[in-house]
Amino acid sequence: MPVPEHFDFFVDPNRCIGCQACVQACAECDTHKGRPMIHLEYVERSTSTQTVPVICMHCDSPTCAEVCPADAIKKTGDGVVQSARKPRCIACNNCVIACPFGVPKMQSDFELMMKCDMCYDRTSVGKRPMCATVCPSGALFYGTREQVEQLRPRSRPINTFQFGHQTITTKVNMMVPAGPGGTPGSSSAEYVDVTSAMHDESAAGGSGKRVRLNVLEDSLFQFESDAVEEPDDAATTT
Ligand code: SF4
Ligand code: SF4
Repeated sequence: MPVPEHFDFFVDPNRCIGCQACVQACAECDTHKGRPMIHLEYVERSTSTQTVPVICMHCDSPTCAEVCPADAIKKTGDGVVQSARKPRCIACNNCVIACPFGVPKMQSDFELMMKCDMCYDRTSVGKRPMCATVCPSGALFYGTREQVEQLRPRSRPINTFQFGHQTITTKVNMMVPAGPGGTPGSSSAEYVDVTSAMHDESAAGGSGKRVRLNVLEDSLFQFESDAVEEPDDAATTT
């Protein structure tokens, strides 16, 4: 039975409280030998305790699978990208290096790349992924787009990510504020500009909005219009 088409996965970094419940729940699953396939990252560890849950984004064109020389990573017909398969995986680390979201981990004792497969044993029979069932703050949500839009009117789901000139679309959605400062209904952002979020101003060109990580402000994501004028270098150099 495939994962139902109208069910999506939503990650809302603003809601993560760093409790690690998702990590513990994931580790309990026997299908990956007690290892958690979700991890938490600090956004700006030197200045904040804000954490972000990181799972496989289940890319429409998964780079991990494209670079695998052993054809060990399969994407199912319903769009879920699976962990590397034994005995095909040769533990070369290509997928680990290539994934733009920093997801796969090489489990050196098993000589196998393992990652989130969206709890395929559960989601393919209509259940929710373990992490989404235990998250107390709703940072991880599995359901329909209509449900999440009704529950989170001040946010909107985005599943298009810009890495420089590369555009990646995913099965997993990231929740971002609906507009500048979280104002509902006024954002026209079509994608999350990951390169810009990493403070690489030189690669932030293109149309649409730029999104920056900024946990010192009220919201995790701060929107800036591309129309904002850049400082004139010539005027500041003497
Ligand atoms: S997020 Fe990384 S590991 Fe997951 S499908 Fe995309 S490239 Fe592969
Ligand atoms: S269970 Fe939810 S709130 Fe707790 S660390 Fe995981 S994502 Fe964050």
